[in-house]
Amino acid sequence: MQFKRIEMQGFKSFADPVCIELNDGITCIVGPNGSGKSNISDALRWVLGEQSPKQLRGNKMDEVIFAGTTSRKPKGMAEVSLVVDNSSGMLPVDYNEVAVTRRMYRSGESEYLINGNNCRLKDVRELFMDTGIGVDGYSIIGQGKIQEIVSTKPENRREIFEEAAGIVSYKTRKQDAERKLVSASDNLERVRDIISEIE
Ligand code: ATP
Repeated sequence: MQFKRIEMQGFKSFADPVCIELNDGITCIVGPNGSGKSNISDALRWVLGEQSPKQLRGNKMDEVIFAGTTSRKPKGMAEVSLVVDNSSGMLPVDYNEVAVTRRMYRSGESEYLINGNNCRLKDVRELFMDTGIGVDGYSIIGQGKIQEIVSTKPENRREIFEEAAGIVSYKTRKQDAERKLVSASDNLERVRDIISEIE
């Protein structure tokens, strides 16, 4: 599976619509300091569902929206789309090309879309689970990440191998099922209490 392009507008320094084509092979992005290179990897993290402004080098999430310059007004919305080639069928959807979009408005409202259809953040997360591409995956190696992997606890390092082995989605589903079981058993206990009060 391959990233085909990143489209964005109103995201950080990219006020106007911009499309970055990612062709076969390696794509290098070069430019002077402060020209927006890291903002592109931030856009990638953000569209994949990043929830921490710190991971996007900010303090508040609305800082991803173009803040304006002396000559330009701020934008009211940031939008990023990531288009991936799914001809290998790695993503569990019946499309050869999958576009994931995230929008955020100054009002705080957020939207996620998969191929133009509104969806939940959970759907985006599940789509990329076990592919290594998700926001917690290993496809985005930021500064300091290697150091973090080497010095982290073995249990945390294991998560990286679990993602690569493709078992994260099963673990997540197991955790969901366990949560539901606990809640069902709590409800059952409450029902038993009520029955014993009635009897
Ligand atoms: P370096 O080579 O120094 O790491 P870089 O090319 O990676 O730099 P970035 O850190 O991606 O540059 O971009 C920083 C620029 O993005 C700064 O000029 C900053 O003002 C601008 N910027 C960040 N957030 C916003 C925003 N919300 N609105 C407008 N501009 C923004």
